[in-house]
Amino acid sequence: MVRRIEFPRVVLNGPDCLDESGNVARELCTKGKDALIVSSEMGMKIAGDKVKALLEEKEFNVHLYLAEAASENTISEAQSIIKEKLINIALGIGGGTCIDIAKLSSSREGVPFMSIPTAASHDGMCSPVASIHVDKHKKSFPTSPPLALIADTKIIKTAPRRMFNAGCADILSNYTAVADWKLARDEKGEPYASYAAALSILSSRHVLDAYKMVSEFSLESVKHVIEGLIGSGAAMCITSSSRPCSGAEHLFSHALDRTAEKPAMHGEQCGLGTIMMAKLHGLDWERFRDALETVGAPVTGKAIGLSDKEIVDALVMAPTLRDRYTILHKAPLSAESARTLAEETGVI
Ligand SMILES: [Zn+2]
Repeated sequence: MVRRIEFPRVVLNGPDCLDESGNVARELCTKGKDALIVSSEMGMKIAGDKVKALLEEKEFNVHLYLAEAASENTISEAQSIIKEKLINIALGIGGGTCIDIAKLSSSREGVPFMSIPTAASHDGMCSPVASIHVDKHKKSFPTSPPLALIADTKIIKTAPRRMFNAGCADILSNYTAVADWKLARDEKGEPYASYAAALSILSSRHVLDAYKMVSEFSLESVKHVIEGLIGSGAAMCITSSSRPCSGAEHLFSHALDRTAEKPAMHGEQCGLGTIMMAKLHGLDWERFRDALETVGAPVTGKAIGLSDKEIVDALVMAPTLRDRYTILHKAPLSAESARTLAEETGVI
């Protein structure tokens, strides 16, 4: 069977690389005149205004779409602009929301997409997957990957530290995601791409092996973590799915998004899930917990406002959300066993 793989073509990661965004857009879009920026008011202040000016210097007509939520509604509005204005290139500037809107709408319309993140809170900046609200719940959609990623570490470092910590936790969750994938291969015959799995683990190790340096939150450590996020994105590009980087720990996070009164950040919740799923897999869960703690990511529900009951309920609900086979599908937890797991790992 032939596997088709699409990767980003240009990746810039380092201080002040935002200055190159006009040049990169022109390089990817030699003749086009119309560019669409999808951002928020905050995203425009942080990076968007500058990118707009740089695009105009390169003779683009720049159209703006400001949005605060990634929903079917905002996706179709962005698609309408792409069609009506004959957009040649779309840019998502901001956190996950604006990037997801630009990624999915441009992918549906067959237009090149540039990802310009202003935070490193999860692995969506470089992945071929967009997370959109449908009927009040988040749903993942496959997309083309970004054609370019511009990760300006000076800008990303100005985002709250908590976001960076959450990004580290999202990368570490690759370990349990791959353990689940192997389980599905062995027990259900699910297709498994060993290279994608190895790349996913390598991205995690990149952070895990350097977690003390990472915890310094310097420009260099931001760059280092972005390398891990890029590696995670590339692993997902190989399979055109989130499988290499999303297992039961992600289902646990999705369950919290649905049931918790005040869900925390995606990466933070995945980090807690990783500690508990690692224990179920017989991995060295204490090492993950220590790494998360050193980086500054939460290791208890309480630290991010999640009650014991919310943690237990999410553990029980997690495998019902998706039929992607994981350790929680192999042995679903009762409320009692979920509580024991959460207590033994110190999450509650
Ligand atoms: Zn994630």
